[in-house]
Amino acid sequence: MPPPVVTLLRTPGPAPRVLTIDAEDWFHVCGEDYYSDWRRWDSFPSRIETTLHRLFDLLEEGGHRATVFFLGWVARRRPELVREAVKRGHEIGVHGDRHRRADDMTIEEFREDVRRARAAIEDAAGSRCSAHRAAEWSIRHPADPALRVLSEEGFACDASATPVPPLGRADNPLGPYRVEENGAGIVEIPPLTGRGFGRRLPVGGGWPFRTLPEERVASAERAYRSSGLPAVFTFHPWEFDPEHPRMVGLPPLLRTVHFFKLGVLPDRFHRWLARDRSVALEDVLPSLDTA
Ligand SMILES: [Zn+2]
Repeated sequence: MPPPVVTLLRTPGPAPRVLTIDAEDWFHVCGEDYYSDWRRWDSFPSRIETTLHRLFDLLEEGGHRATVFFLGWVARRRPELVREAVKRGHEIGVHGDRHRRADDMTIEEFREDVRRARAAIEDAAGSRCSAHRAAEWSIRHPADPALRVLSEEGFACDASATPVPPLGRADNPLGPYRVEENGAGIVEIPPLTGRGFGRRLPVGGGWPFRTLPEERVASAERAYRSSGLPAVFTFHPWEFDPEHPRMVGLPPLLRTVHFFKLGVLPDRFHRWLARDRSVALEDVLPSLDTA
């Protein structure tokens, strides 16, 4: 099969700031045996309802819009949260069913996972979802067969491929691009990244947002947006909930990343929200043009 055609995209003028939220609970972790086993999830105390509502209140105060990526598992248990996100005016996206990495599944398992998640989420939302994000940036590059599946399934955009190794390839585009294959296509919109220590670093995720100096985040955002590349930020509701269970038994590195400087996030987030208005992925798509 010939490789897909990749076309770089950008907005004709300055690009907006895009806010995305991965609507998962504190125990939805990938890559370790205990917490990533979905059969245990119903035994953990869920806190997503409180944390997500708090986040929606904050966004509403400033007139911000977001793309909220739900897990199918969450949508089946808490369909009222999906409806609440719709009511608050946010775009609803699909974050897989049980938070499995795309590249940990066969391509047919991936298709089934996406279909199951989408059915639950759309049922709760009462409308069609056209945005997708895989768990842990696990669509690795533009020729990843998972993108072809998403395109065949009718998704308009995906936000899962980062140019930061080892999660993504270093030569992945920094900004949006269209991937076309067999007459079908999908737009990939990568997260905000920047340069530091001689390499490319994540900037738009909750962890770098908590750990990098605020000016570093702001300058990376300015650099993207002034070049016509949307600055995509991603947060999780549990990042605004430093009181959630301490997750004893999580491997030390994962635990450090999960909990590090959670306490600084609310103030930083408030200041960041106050600086500009955020939009959803679907607000950006129509303005993207060939770079
Ligand atoms: Zn996730």
